[in-house]
Amino acid sequence: MTIRFIYAYKWVRGPYTGLYAYVGSSFDPEKRDRAHSSRSDIPFDRAIKRYGREVFGPVEILEAFVAETKPTALSASIAREDQWMDVCNTYGTFRTPNKFNRSRARYIDAGMSAVGGRAGRGKVLTEGHKANLSVAKMGNQARLGLKNSEAHNQKLREANLGNRHRLGQTNSETHNDKISEALKGHPLFGSKEDCARGGRRGGPKGRHTRWHVNKGFVKAGCEFCMAGLV
Ligand SMILES: [Zn+2]
Repeated sequence: MTIRFIYAYKWVRGPYTGLYAYVGSSFDPEKRDRAHSSRSDIPFDRAIKRYGREVFGPVEILEAFVAETKPTALSASIAREDQWMDVCNTYGTFRTPNKFNRSRARYIDAGMSAVGGRAGRGKVLTEGHKANLSVAKMGNQARLGLKNSEAHNQKLREANLGNRHRLGQTNSETHNDKISEALKGHPLFGSKEDCARGGRRGGPKGRHTRWHVNKGFVKAGCEFCMAGLV
């Protein structure tokens, strides 16, 4: 069993206090929380570096998708993550210094023809593509792919965002231990392919780095994408 969490951060200091700053998704939000503070590869991480972690509140869990496998959980959550960005109003540009979601979540199902390649680079999945993803199995099917009006979003924010029972909560240690334990036996964690300069090139991990990591995609059929997901 695996769980994909959609999470969010709010501003708790300064002029934007009370507004959402960022929406993300993770199999392990606590681990992802630490990563946000130690990396600097996305605008939200850079904001933490610049302003300090304390200007944002604790990670809030907005929704959880339980499935047998990571790809299933991921494909179930991906369109909902986009919706949460709309609801929390965190999708912005460099002109909106309080909003740190820049690109929509992008995911390619195994066997799905490329959204990627040059044409797909930097593009958001179209509604048609989203409909193709196997999201329909979970959650509120009727609204998938729809955008809420601003007034409606405001109501949702005021209503404190639906699924409240997990708001502000984190997983128990036991639960996280179970998930880490499940990952330990994974053959991919033992992979020895050397992707450093001068190392072996052209192997599956090199292809993953080149075609998935560098292009910002997560591909269901790729063992490294699945193994590397936090
Ligand atoms: Zn990959």
